[in-house]
Amino acid sequence: MSTKDIKRIAVLTSGGDSSGMNPAIRAFARAAMLKGAEVFAIREGYNGLVNDSILPLNWGSVAGIISRGGTIIGTARSAEFRTREGRKKAAFNLIKNKINNLLVIGGDGSLTGANLLRSEWCSLLGELVNDGKISPDCLENYSTLSIAGIVGSIDNDMCGTDLTVGADTATRRILEAIDSILSTAVSHQRSFVIEVMGRNCGWLALVSGVATGADYILIPESPPEKGWEQHMADNLEKGRLSGRRCSLVIVSEGAIDSDGKPITSSYVRQFLEDKGHDARITILGHVQRGGTPTFLDRYIATIMGVESANYFYDTKEAQKEPVLIGMSGTDVIRSPLMECVKKTQSIATLIKEKRFNEVVDCRGGMFKEFHEIFRACSNLYRRKVEPNGLNIVILHSGGPSPGMNPCVRAFTRLGIDRGYTMYGCFNGFGGLALGEIQQLNWMTVNGWSVMGGAELGTNRSVPNDSNIDAIMANLEKLKIDAILMFGGFNGYLGIAKLYEYREKYPRLKKISIIGAPGTIANNVPGTNISIGADTSLNNTLDALDKIKQSAVASRRLFVVEVMGAHCGYLAAMSSLASGAERSYIMEKGVTLESLTKDLKMFVERFKREHRIGLIIKSESASPTYTTHFIYSLFKEEGKHLFDVRESILGHLQQGGSPSAIDRIFSTRLMNHYFEFLEKDLKENNHLQMSGCIGFIDGGVHFTPMPEMIEEMSDKYRRPRSQWWMDLVDISQNISVFPLDDPSI
Ligand code: ATP
Repeated sequence: MSTKDIKRIAVLTSGGDSSGMNPAIRAFARAAMLKGAEVFAIREGYNGLVNDSILPLNWGSVAGIISRGGTIIGTARSAEFRTREGRKKAAFNLIKNKINNLLVIGGDGSLTGANLLRSEWCSLLGELVNDGKISPDCLENYSTLSIAGIVGSIDNDMCGTDLTVGADTATRRILEAIDSILSTAVSHQRSFVIEVMGRNCGWLALVSGVATGADYILIPESPPEKGWEQHMADNLEKGRLSGRRCSLVIVSEGAIDSDGKPITSSYVRQFLEDKGHDARITILGHVQRGGTPTFLDRYIATIMGVESANYFYDTKEAQKEPVLIGMSGTDVIRSPLMECVKKTQSIATLIKEKRFNEVVDCRGGMFKEFHEIFRACSNLYRRKVEPNGLNIVILHSGGPSPGMNPCVRAFTRLGIDRGYTMYGCFNGFGGLALGEIQQLNWMTVNGWSVMGGAELGTNRSVPNDSNIDAIMANLEKLKIDAILMFGGFNGYLGIAKLYEYREKYPRLKKISIIGAPGTIANNVPGTNISIGADTSLNNTLDALDKIKQSAVASRRLFVVEVMGAHCGYLAAMSSLASGAERSYIMEKGVTLESLTKDLKMFVERFKREHRIGLIIKSESASPTYTTHFIYSLFKEEGKHLFDVRESILGHLQQGGSPSAIDRIFSTRLMNHYFEFLEKDLKENNHLQMSGCIGFIDGGVHFTPMPEMIEEMSDKYRRPRSQWWMDLVDISQNISVFPLDDPSI
């Protein structure tokens, strides 16, 4: 590559910081370097552009930051950049550093600023030529400024992406705080008013409300009707009378009433106190911004960072328009930057103009859905619904997965809200045969949204010739119309078996049999993501961060074994999010040749002063090359250069309180479950749809049973195709120093 062809690309972070900016900088910088770019960091947001604080980055300057909150390159709000004179200085400094590619990580304000700089670029350069500050050939050599934007914001307030970098971590911080508060609130029978961030957007309050089972939320998008204070106090009282020991009200810092007047958390607390509640207030403040990024923030930041680097290597034509790099489900997408910014800013205008009925719609599908789910599951808005005469039973099958309890809670309440009679079956299909079934009422599942484990129990039994008659008798006894299995691969085998029995037991043809993904392994068909995997990955990252830290004063290679059975999802994703150099998974195989190659790579790395190495191995990656074998091999061969430690993380991956994503996505899944049932009922006059439901392309999809069965590999107990396989190489490429190009 000639020097002329080498791209010089700069990155800056601007506006409020958010956890996940660092992994985005790391992924972008390394992916761009691997493409041959020279990468620069602009320090302290646009201030660094105006003041020429622009520094070259190399591979090592972004090492060790994937688990750090905040932004290592600093962020700021720059008043000078808001002026044309400031932007002229910015343009001059970019040209001085021969840079005309810019990645901006920030909120809508920062992206607006970037777009303005781009639209003024030619005229600013013209002025600089006229002023004699740059030579006229710059007009041709730097004719355009290419801009990509990644939204770094805890508020999740941007159109064009399902999630912004930092929102999941902020939600985690909120849930940690509320979960702790709830245990003391229950003991003292107190009411708690919690204020969370979100000046213009109620996302954090909304999803925290769904995830903690709060009684009431106040958000800017949906101001309460006049007289809400009394309605809230009366209903909190009713909740107490029906058995709740505490009340929880979550207030977004930008909450307003229907006149547009701010509602403060202290006002809410005072009102409750005046009505006789023992009410306390907690304002969470900046804890929400900080701390180590969650798995999801590291994942989205990494793939958006890599995609930004790709963007700058597209044709000039493709780069004509500035893009926003965002997420749709598990996929990274590009959208026209200014369209997204304008749509986002129009929401603030709608709120100001009090056009509230349009606001929730404008926030997008997920926001609207969670808004509806919150109301349907909350005690306060509970409707009186006549029973529709249909009975549904839920059971778990397979290993326990965090998210099972929130799922049963949402199943129960959303079902009751639609008129169904809900049953819970204990101990899987075995329990169904033994008749271990109990009706689930509204209050049976009170408090389950925050609980790990599985109150209904789970095991690996499946329907078979010896228990099917008993299962049929129990289904008949309760006149069950639908069975929902929320669990893992075994559960999917179980529902497939039940479906097969339809020929012998025609009654089953009038029962809907649905599987929903509830397993940490993410190895079931019909979905990209299973509930439980996110909690498990966060548990794994917490452990990996500590393991890596334990080695800072030595030269150590860790071989860490994670769960996942025959599916490498947990190993691949924890590698991506921890910056491991290698992941060993069954899908890719482990050979003596690959081990030898990797050993050489680590030897070279440790020769170059590297201090820590990390290999993540899936538990079933190879029956021959076990974790201990790999540990022994590397220890023996690397003994003069580095020490090796092995660690098997084990069941800590399956436990703990469910993550924000597992809590809210299990409720979302259940909401769609009932929508599918409603459609089925309308089309067939009875329930019969059978198959599985799951998350695909950013939505919730139904896969009919024959297709579901076709998609399952019985031999490997995982889906035949897995969407995340390409990420293994991407993750390794940006984690292993390219020894063949030491200039990086
Ligand atoms: P957050 O969501 O944390 O508020 P943000 O990016 O929206 O992040 P802002 O304070 O709005 O934060 O913008 C950050 C910086 O971007 C500003 O300090 C300013 O330098 C620049 N900026 C914002 N809006 C404009 C604009 N209209 N014109 C020029 N520059 C702007």
